[in-house]
Amino acid sequence: MSVRAAVLNGFEQPLLLETFPEPGQLAPGEVLVSVDIAGICGTDVHLWLGQLRIPLPNILGHETAGRIERMGSEPLLDWRGTPLQVGDRVTWASSISCGECYYCRMKKQPTRCLTRKAYGISYCSSDAPHLRGGYAEKILLRAGTAIFRIPDSVSSESLIGAGCALTTAIHASERAPLEWGDTVIVQGTGPVGLAAVVVAKAAGASKIVAIGGPKHRLDLALGFGASAVIDIAELPTAEARQQAALEVVGPHGADQVIECVGHPDAVNEGIVLCRDGGQFVVLGQYADAGNIPFNPHTITRKQLRVIGSWGFEPRHVDRAIRLLENEPGLRAKFEAGITHKFPLGQAAEALDTARRWAGGKTVILPNAEETAN
Ligand SMILES: [Zn+2]
Ligand SMILES: [Zn+2]
Repeated sequence: MSVRAAVLNGFEQPLLLETFPEPGQLAPGEVLVSVDIAGICGTDVHLWLGQLRIPLPNILGHETAGRIERMGSEPLLDWRGTPLQVGDRVTWASSISCGECYYCRMKKQPTRCLTRKAYGISYCSSDAPHLRGGYAEKILLRAGTAIFRIPDSVSSESLIGAGCALTTAIHASERAPLEWGDTVIVQGTGPVGLAAVVVAKAAGASKIVAIGGPKHRLDLALGFGASAVIDIAELPTAEARQQAALEVVGPHGADQVIECVGHPDAVNEGIVLCRDGGQFVVLGQYADAGNIPFNPHTITRKQLRVIGSWGFEPRHVDRAIRLLENEPGLRAKFEAGITHKFPLGQAAEALDTARRWAGGKTVILPNAEETAN
């Protein structure tokens, strides 16, 4: 028995289909999952292009849902305490923190765990047991993985359509909580920006302005709850965008600005959009895109709180699932946001589609027939 996976052997090179041995006897706590759907996230594009340090070769894919095929021990509970069974539809937190290092134990910052490892990112696929990424027919989950049984009402498509962007935005919202009725400006209408709109809306924001583009992304932002959108193509200068945004949130600026752009220049613009004493959340600078001229006087004078947020923890996956469970309309929107589906053999095309921003969300269906589009 062998398992097929799409492997990244070199940066910017096409993923290649390779076969790996089916895992033998599972250790206690391990779970073998047959992958139904694996999302392509903006991070995967950064990884592919070599913009973040990862071991090669590598099976990418950290937004994944599938069905339990085998378990190394029973009973095994999901993260919420529900007994897991073979055949259950599951997803999981993409990384495991050690719980014992300085950041995990002393400072309660498990996303900065000193030995944190993430599926689809941190594992070299030439090391046994190989199957540690989502772009594969099967993935072997380590003991200690935060696994979630997906409620029947929540489709895997809605969950992966929301992807790690939603959990990332929920984590940021926890680090920088809104007060009910706050005004929010979201910079960027990529997946994280749209998720930030969703979460701000759910958290009680009164006005949400999304700044980004192109037009179909702005329409999505409106559908997800933005009060107004600003098209960067129509208003190419920061001054014009500021004027348009302040017309919506009021002349003093927004209570919270969330940067979800990834370009360093967005940080200077975001600081200007904050009211004095407001919060500026820097969420989009996941890859290191370099330095910018920057005047820190503004932070002091405006009494800003500048907050960073990295990745997410299992409880943010829990909250993302709960949000989808409670909001049928949101599920439908995230499902509809999946515009491209590829079989495993076309993983390279899938990644290239995501890089070109050809549409909405791109996913890989590793066990689908090769005729899928
Ligand atoms: Zn991601
Ligand atoms: Zn740790």
